[in-house]
Amino acid sequence: MTKTTLTTSAGNPVPDNQNSLTAGARGPVLLQDVHLTEKLAHQNRERIPERVVHAKGWGAYGTLTITEDISQYTKAACLQKGAQTEMLARFSTVAGELGAADNERDVRGFALKFYSSEGNWDLVGNNTPVFFIRDPLKFPDFIRTQKRHPKSNLRSGTAMWDFWSLSPESLHQITILMSDRGCPQTPMQMNGYGSHTFSLINAENERVWVKFHFKTRQGHAHYTNAESAEVIGRTREGYQESLFGGIENGEFPKWDMKIQVMTEEQAKHTAFNPFDLTKVWPHGEFPLIDVGVMELNRNPENYFAEIEQAAFSPSNIVPGIGFSPDKVLQARIFSYADAHRYRLGTHYEALPVNAPRCPVHHYHKDGSMRFFEPKHGSSDAYYEPNSFDGPAEAPQHAEPALPLDGDADRYNHRDGNDDYTQAGNLFRLMNAEQQGRLFSNLADAMGGVPSEIIERQLAHFDQADPAYGAGVRKALGL
Ligand code: NDP
Repeated sequence: MTKTTLTTSAGNPVPDNQNSLTAGARGPVLLQDVHLTEKLAHQNRERIPERVVHAKGWGAYGTLTITEDISQYTKAACLQKGAQTEMLARFSTVAGELGAADNERDVRGFALKFYSSEGNWDLVGNNTPVFFIRDPLKFPDFIRTQKRHPKSNLRSGTAMWDFWSLSPESLHQITILMSDRGCPQTPMQMNGYGSHTFSLINAENERVWVKFHFKTRQGHAHYTNAESAEVIGRTREGYQESLFGGIENGEFPKWDMKIQVMTEEQAKHTAFNPFDLTKVWPHGEFPLIDVGVMELNRNPENYFAEIEQAAFSPSNIVPGIGFSPDKVLQARIFSYADAHRYRLGTHYEALPVNAPRCPVHHYHKDGSMRFFEPKHGSSDAYYEPNSFDGPAEAPQHAEPALPLDGDADRYNHRDGNDDYTQAGNLFRLMNAEQQGRLFSNLADAMGGVPSEIIERQLAHFDQADPAYGAGVRKALGL
């Protein structure tokens, strides 16, 4: 069989891919060896900036199938009963770099892209229903504490606990992170949460607030710190092996999609701020409503092209799904798309993995890597409004007005917020063994941290539940 001819990137046939062009067998290389220089130049450019957070990830394609009728809440085409939507999931750790070990204790990213007929809907959540902060101004500070110390280039328990103990809104998420669920065995054995409050809008243009949940059908499974150290000693790629390998073997993981719904009127009367990312909506008050099932069933052909270049952004929503006053969500709406423009370039949404599967019509112009042609009518329609049948807005997709009240000011986000009840509820939900592992995980994580910082943090555990503080004290040998 004749082999395909190797070419340069310009398509010129390559006569020799084994030997450089040199002056004599022992001689120096000639600059004229364009194949050699192209090969080296390309290698030099193979890396793009890794994500500042969520750098290490694993992903697969699948399908979202809607099995229940939730049209009373949303008109989104991809959420109507019977709809099947192709999708991409990318799971990740938060703090570790691109080469970090998969099985470390950390929050897991749970990012979903649904290629709907009305454009991409990205739900960029975590395996936790809450987060460490409620004001986005604190996000860069928080992430600094999770990354490397500028002098030692080591991760710093002191920085983490200093920040956390000074930011009691983090207690709920710390309790999850240090519980069994902080170290899932595989990406298949954890839940996913949209985390933020979003909105749903129905065909009558009525809005409700919503939380999205994806409950694993594989069951929860977690490693203790000792087990994860042993796993990492064997393989640093535990998640990639289990997700990629499972799908190659025809094992297709599934999650049940559910929502919680709150009316605009109910939102005015909850004991907690329903737009506070450090809070859940208790199931007893806001029961889970079945929606459908998500299945992952296809591995990407090329990890870099399809997972490293996958760009998820909470700003991608479809008619029938909207944002909410959650401050952190609003900052992410800006920040994620901005990060992708920096990492991947202006036209990152045109890359095959990110490209919507529906027609795209916009007037954004040129820029680096403009490799696509707008496919709308006349070439004279390159501004708007125009008389040449160019794309125009569709007012039927306008959301209902959102009533806002209050004076513009910098409100102290720590005033009047109860940071302890829900963290305590989670603690009290754990059985004695689970609480014991929580205490010892916390004591491990606090090793080497100055005592005044530990004391400050212990006071937070005490406020969540006296038994919580007492257990950690005992584990610390205090
Ligand atoms: P419920 O008893 O109705 O629900 C408890 C929830 O906690 C379940 O969703 C369960 O997930 C989840 N869970 C169990 N162990 C852990 C853990 N170690 N880390 C994180 N989640 C865990 O109680 P409420 O709704 O009244 O909430 C009580 C507490 O449960 C909350 O304060 C919150 O910390 C936690 N929680 C609540 C969620 C919510 O949306 N209401 C979501 C997740 C956690 P599963 O069913 O998959 O086992």
